[in-house]
Amino acid sequence: MKANALHIAVASGKGGTGKTTLATCLAAVLAKRGKSVAYLDCDVEEPNGHIFLKPQISKTTEVEVLIPKVDLDKCTFCGECAKICEFNAIAVLLDKVMVFPSLCHSCGGCFHICPERAITEIPRPIGTIADGIGMGVRFIEGRLNIGEAMAPPVTTRIKHNMPDMDVTIIDAPPGTSCPVIEAVRDTDFVVLVTEPTPFGLNDLQLAVGMVRSLQLPFGVVINRSDLGDDRVVKYCADEKVDVMMQIPFNRALAESYAVGKMIDGLAPELTDDLTHMYDTIESRVAHD
Ligand code: SF4
Ligand code: SF4
Repeated sequence: MKANALHIAVASGKGGTGKTTLATCLAAVLAKRGKSVAYLDCDVEEPNGHIFLKPQISKTTEVEVLIPKVDLDKCTFCGECAKICEFNAIAVLLDKVMVFPSLCHSCGGCFHICPERAITEIPRPIGTIADGIGMGVRFIEGRLNIGEAMAPPVTTRIKHNMPDMDVTIIDAPPGTSCPVIEAVRDTDFVVLVTEPTPFGLNDLQLAVGMVRSLQLPFGVVINRSDLGDDRVVKYCADEKVDVMMQIPFNRALAESYAVGKMIDGLAPELTDDLTHMYDTIESRVAHD
């Protein structure tokens, strides 16, 4: 890995805060500044970083997980596989064994416990990873197949194959559940994007609890900062949380990113603010 390589996650306690806009703009601004930058879209249920970075995709690979397949000629219907499965993904009846692929977490428990070696593991595709370049940024997007619920294996695959760049921006899914933790863990810094509303504050509090429990350094960006109240700012002051950027609502900007234009080309002050935010992150990580 490059010396001083920085891995920055951009997350939010809820959707619709402008997280992806910020993550893609930060990536594009840093690439323009001459850094080698990767943007990883780990919001695998609804990846939309491509709308902003408009990448040329050069490679798409399938993500597979292993699920059990039972050979009924060897099976004695002893029920051990169903007993060990914490997820009720395998059920043993009088004369058949049923596997529920969408519930299976691919832990391998049933495979290992079967006394008759009646279980083999077979691959099941659950999503894809697209790899390309857009706006000078290496673009990697995970996408869960429609109807699939198991996001973490796709995120894990993206992170295992991370390119070695100066800066890697990880666009995490919204919320504070397992897929978010998978996306943000092992990063150097987390940017939490929120908005100054009661819902924004509530979700920010949950997100702050998550990053604190993971012991990750973090800061907050308040989007549409002039449209709500000051409770988020007060909360951050009380909790000694660094508010790294406040972005006032701007109709022209909102219309631009609604059609997928990069905001940095429209608003030089945002480019400056993003650059300043990055410098602050770099210095905080260096001194932690
Ligand atoms: S543990 Fe093996 S032998 Fe027992 S029910 Fe399951 S598949 Fe059949
Ligand atoms: S691999 Fe694990 S989760 Fe899947 S059916 Fe077997 S025991 Fe259950």
